[in-house]
Amino acid sequence: MTALTETVLTEADLLARVPHQLFIGGEWVDSTTGATLDVRDPSNNQVIASIADASIKDGIGALDAAVAAQDAWAATSPRFRGDLLRRAFDLLIERQDEFALLMTVEMGKPLAESLGEVKYASEFVRWFGEEAVRITGRYGPNPEGTGRMIVSQHPVGPSFLITPWNFPLAMATRKIAPALAAGCTVVVKPAALTPLSTLHFVKLLEEVGLPKGVVNVITTSTSGAVSAPIIGDPRLRKLSFTGSTPVGQRLIEQSARVVLRTSMELGGNAPFVIFEDADLDKAVEGAIAAKFRNIGQACTAANRFIVHSSIADEFARRVTDRVNSFAIGRGTEDGVVIGPLIDNKAVAKADELVQDALKRGATLRTGGAKVDREGSFYEPTVISGVVAGSDILREEIFGPVLSIVPFDDEDEAVRLANDTEYGLVAYVYTENLSRGQRMIDRLQTGMMGLNMGVISNAAAPFGGVKQSGLGREGGLEGIHEYLYTKYTLTPDPAA
Ligand code: NAP
Repeated sequence: MTALTETVLTEADLLARVPHQLFIGGEWVDSTTGATLDVRDPSNNQVIASIADASIKDGIGALDAAVAAQDAWAATSPRFRGDLLRRAFDLLIERQDEFALLMTVEMGKPLAESLGEVKYASEFVRWFGEEAVRITGRYGPNPEGTGRMIVSQHPVGPSFLITPWNFPLAMATRKIAPALAAGCTVVVKPAALTPLSTLHFVKLLEEVGLPKGVVNVITTSTSGAVSAPIIGDPRLRKLSFTGSTPVGQRLIEQSARVVLRTSMELGGNAPFVIFEDADLDKAVEGAIAAKFRNIGQACTAANRFIVHSSIADEFARRVTDRVNSFAIGRGTEDGVVIGPLIDNKAVAKADELVQDALKRGATLRTGGAKVDREGSFYEPTVISGVVAGSDILREEIFGPVLSIVPFDDEDEAVRLANDTEYGLVAYVYTENLSRGQRMIDRLQTGMMGLNMGVISNAAAPFGGVKQSGLGREGGLEGIHEYLYTKYTLTPDPAA
């Protein structure tokens, strides 16, 4: 058992404090069927909690509660909503160690990274608490001079928020905070693999005075069956989804039938381009962060290292040395860099991609196998000389595998980087300012790190182009995903 240094809270104590029920209309309730689902620690596959497994009826019940609370919530003042979020931010920071431990236990990432995610997650709560009071409009004459135009912003209404397992807290706050700030009530559905961080956060919202029905949470092992009737219900006004592109495509199809407004934060296949004029020390640091953060399980994880052939070998040697020093283990252990992957399927997928690349001619520099211990561990791996057509260049790896493709000139680098149906993020390392600016224009991506390996923050308009998604989360843009624009014309007062 791990003890938290400051609060002396054991894992068992912590897990006992986390709600195991659905949160509907301000009440913690069991599933109407009485069913439960197990949550496991990926470092040893042990069950750590059995929580309510929502049925279709529970899902609609959660929507009923969100609909019932909508008008009163939208009528609260922006300052009231902002203050509530600010109190939630303060309490989340006060309890950051507790949230970090919970996240490591349910998801596997090293404790230091979990702490980083709690801080990142809390920043969305603070940012959108501040944005609540900055929702503005426009006023002015129409072109004919006969009237006055008023452009105002209004909450879209009850929203359904679906989040993935890889950032269990930040993906929830990145949606819940702007929705609440805008005046929308929500139904949240976290991933079945990692629901505890969201449940614990919603309990915190309750503690800081969240009115009943404003946030409702359903956890379920049958996400498709439970979600479809919610999405098809005409009372729902917004779907915000973060997850894989294939599931996102299915949800867009369902949404199209009721012309539901959607935001889609989907998969990525990030290129990490290193030009011959890059500062290689900085590029190696950036590469390690962009690849191995979250054990490679991030939509923003660098998937393809596209490296000038004059430095590709040197780069491979240096990252291999670094990777060979990584400690592998449970995320609660001191100094661990590589925790478990989320489950055994993820391990099998990473290994298939590596073996396919090697069969087609790539060179294994280090790693390349499942770790021989209990839990879902895969060795941190470096492969170089990856050949065109390899699956690893086309698919999201979602594991600790760094794959290197050499290039010879700028046009080839751009062609390789853009050769994917995804367009979430790209990383470029060059000391040539003009080249860096050209890359901003030429790379098909929603976000870019120019000599930076980690780019996320609450002020950033996070999102992709192509099959990486629709809309933006965070930043000035994030709150507008939960607002609609209304235009009104009134007669000119002088007429
Ligand atoms: P996923 O399998 O698509 O699941 C995401 C969420 O959708 C989970 O809550 C899942 O619930 C739910 N879900 C699955 N099928 C559904 C259906 N038919 N109807 C309604 N909900 C459904 O993705 P994941 O494996 O959790 O997450 C990894 C993916 O997320 C990667 O592709 C990654 O790139 C992407 N991602 C993108 C961003 C971004 O901001 N662009 C950020 C993080 C992750 P259950 O798991 O309980 O079934």
